Amino acid sequence: MQTQETLKFRRRREAMVAEQLQARGIHDAAVLAAMGRVPRHFFVSEALMDQAYGDYPLPIGYQQTISQPQIVAEMTQALGASSEDRVLEIGTGSGYQAAVLAEMVFRVYTIERLQPLYMKARRLFDALKYHNIVTRYSDGTTGWKSEAPFDAILVTAGGPLVPDVLLSQLAEGGRLVMPVGSADVQQLVRVTRTPSGFEREVLCSCRFVKLVGEHGWREE
Ligand code: SAH
Repeated sequence: MQTQETLKFRRRREAMVAEQLQARGIHDAAVLAAMGRVPRHFFVSEALMDQAYGDYPLPIGYQQTISQPQIVAEMTQALGASSEDRVLEIGTGSGYQAAVLAEMVFRVYTIERLQPLYMKARRLFDALKYHNIVTRYSDGTTGWKSEAPFDAILVTAGGPLVPDVLLSQLAEGGRLVMPVGSADVQQLVRVTRTPSGFEREVLCSCRFVKLVGEHGWREE
C-alpha cells in the first residue's frame, strides 16, 4: 500500500514537471530536477494530499498558502542559485519552497513569523532529512544579519517595497527575488547587487499573501 501510494505521487509529480513546468517554459534543469524530487504531498494537510500536484495554490492554515508549482519554479529559476550558494528565504510557510532550494544549494536559511507553521515545517525538514535547512521564528523583513551576506534572497510573501536592509544582506553578484506591489496584486521583482550598486528588473505579475512585519505590511 505504502509503495503504491509513493508510486501514485511520483507519477503525479512527473506529470506536474512535464505539463505545468516544462510545457510552460521552465528550462532550468536543476529546478526541474529538484521539483521532480521534493514530495510536495507531505507539505499539505492529509486531507489535501490528493490535490498536492494540482495546478493551483492550496491552503496551509492560518490564512496562508503553499504557492502554485509554476510560481515556485519561476521564482527559483529567477534566483539563479548554484550548488555552493547560501540562500535566505523569507516566509517558510509549508516549507515546500525551502525544500526545493535545499535540493539545489549548499544551505537554506528560512524565516517564518507564525509559530505553528514554523514548528510544523521544522519537524517536516527533520523527518525528510533536509539537514541543510536552518529555520528561524521571527520577522523576516529585517533579514538574518548574523548569517549575511547571502548569495540569494527569496521573499515568498508580497510587500509594498524591497526592504533596504535585505539588499544590504546580499553578497556582490547576489540576487533578491520578491513580489512587490499592493496587497492584492504584485510584480515579481529581481534585484541584483553589482559592484557599483543594484540593478532592478520586473519579471511578471503575481499574487501572494502579505508580507507582515517591520518593513512589510502592518498586522491587521
Ligand atoms: N514559501 C512558502 C509560501 C508560504 S506563504 C511555501 O513554500 O509554502 C507566505 C508565508 O510568509 C506565510 O507562511 C507567512 O506567515 C509568511 N510571512 C509573512 N510575513 C513574514 C515575515 N515578515 N517574516 C517571515 N515570514 C513571513
